[in-house]
Order: sequence, then structure tokens, then C-alpha cells
Amino acid sequence: SRRELLILKEKPTITEDGRRIELAANIGTPKDVQEVLKKGAEGIGLYRTEFLYMDRNSLPSEEEQFQAYREVLEKMQTKPVIIRTLDIGGDKELPYLNLPKEMNPFLGYRAIRICLDQPEIFKIQLRALLRASVYGNLKIMYPMISSVEEVRGAKEILDKVKKELDSEGIAYKTTIPVGIMMEIPAAAIIGDLLIKEVDFFSIGTNDLIQYTIAVDRMNEKISSLYNPFHPAILRKIKMIIDHAHEAGKWVGMCGEMAGDLTIIPILLGLGLDEFSMSASSILPARRLLGELSYKEMKEVAEEALTLSTAEEIKNYIYRKTSGRQ
Ligand code: PEP
Ligand code: MG
Repeated sequence: SRRELLILKEKPTITEDGRRIELAANIGTPKDVQEVLKKGAEGIGLYRTEFLYMDRNSLPSEEEQFQAYREVLEKMQTKPVIIRTLDIGGDKELPYLNLPKEMNPFLGYRAIRICLDQPEIFKIQLRALLRASVYGNLKIMYPMISSVEEVRGAKEILDKVKKELDSEGIAYKTTIPVGIMMEIPAAAIIGDLLIKEVDFFSIGTNDLIQYTIAVDRMNEKISSLYNPFHPAILRKIKMIIDHAHEAGKWVGMCGEMAGDLTIIPILLGLGLDEFSMSASSILPARRLLGELSYKEMKEVAEEALTLSTAEEIKNYIYRKTSGRQ
């Protein structure tokens, strides 16, 4: 009931057998924070900063960005806030950047690719993020990473920006964790190499599914192919989590899958540490996780990964969780 859910608002997320999970929320603007706190999120797992750049005629200034990031960090106090750098392109256009029309925008000039190609744009965002870092618990995340070179490229630019701030006497936290989105199949395959470069992974299943199954995430006509229970998706998620854990690092998920109550049991069993979702899913997810045993779901996940079809996997998980979702 609604009352039961409200009681869970102030509680941590702990499985029936005592595994601690972090439940975070996805946001698009600082205005969303109020709702996130109302729904009992333990952090922000994805702040999509591209909305700061959209519906306007020019790039947002460093000061504008700083104010937005600072507002979110201050409101979240000590709770972790993962701010993702600009993820433009694909379906999100910025007319004032005069980006070329492309045959395959989702495979094109976007996100970290633009940022590495036009560091003057990227640096303004990184400066704003570093300046805001002193107001809360910031983690920085790069989208659409497909190679180690890209992570190193982003790291170089971040270091340059830090040196600039040093020389200007501007304060920032020196211990900001840096992570990457795992949303491109190539990244999932080289997770063991990528994890050496970063502090954490966050799995972006919206794109990971699109790119793995080669199915446009917006195309209604093929939406039945867009299936998070596809064995290839679950295997990839397992690979990503295992690579991070082998290196002693944590893994979150900020794609839509993370808030899906029918999928949460297997994600728990695969060892996912942090789930980031829309605010409205937090309390139902906390209740469900409180009823699940990590040990049992680990066995369920292992068995599910031996099955051949999405349908079999889905039904198996449903049976094993006795339809609690
Ligand atoms: C994702 O791809 O799963 C993701 C969280 O990023 P976006 O939906 O913004 O592409
Ligand atoms: Mg994405």
C-alpha cells in the first residue's frame, strides 16, 4: 500500500539476506531534485546535462552550468550525484552547433566524440563541474565510451582544466571519482581494460540494447525486438559487472532496465551495486529488493543465463520470484 511505501522512504535498501544496494534516481534538470528526495532516493545516478544545452540559441556559459550543478549538489547534500557530461547527437540535436546531417545519427558524431573533437566546448563543462564539486558529493561520468583512448583523452582534458583552475587559484575537490557509461558493445567486451582507467561503470541499457541487437530504440515497428531479456543483453551485463568486481570497483545501471521490477531480481543476482531509475520507481524497487534474497537470486541468474530465449528467461525469473513484482 501507499503507506507501506512511505515508511520505506527513510530506510536504506537492504535485501532479505542483508546485501546493501544503492537506489538512485535519474534527473534532467535541477528542478527534478525535489521529487527525487521526496521519493527517498539515496543519490542521483544520472544527471543528463544535455537539457541545459537544448532549446536555446547558444551554448550555456560556464556560470550557468556551474549554478545548475551547484544547485543539484547542494540539495543532495552528502548523497552521491553522478553528473554525465554532454550526450548530444543521436536523437538530441543542437541547431546552433551546426552539426552535419548524418545517415546514421546514432552511430555518428555525438556525445564524447564531439567533446573530444571540440575540447573548447568540453572544457567549459568540466570547469563548471570542478568548481561545483566543493558543494557536494560529485562523480563525473562520460557517455558513449567505446575505447580506452577516449577515456584517456577525456582524462587529459580534465587534468588540463584542473591545472588551469590551480593557476587561477580556484578551488575544486581533488578526489572526484570518474566513471563511464557502458552502453556500447565494444566497451562491454573490453570492460577489463576500461575499468583500469576509471572508478566505476554505469550500464546504459537503453543504448546497449539498441546497439547490441541492432534495433533502433525509437522505432515502433521493431519494438518487439527490443528485449532486455535477450540472452545477449544479460550476458553482456554479467561481463560488465564481473570485470568491474574483479578490479574491486562498483557498477551501477542508469538505463530503463534498472527500474523494471520484472528485471530487478536478475540484476540483483548478477551483482549490480547501484540502480538508477525514475523517481517514481524508487519505493517499489526498495520494497521488492527487501523481499528478495541475494543468494537465491545469484542462483536464479546463473540458471537464467543457461536458457536460450528471452521468453524462457523472463518466465523463469517470474516463476522464481513467485510473481512478487
Ligand atoms: C542509456 O543509454 O541507457 C542511458 C541511460 O542514456 P540515454 O538514455 O540518455 O541515452
Ligand atoms: Mg545512452
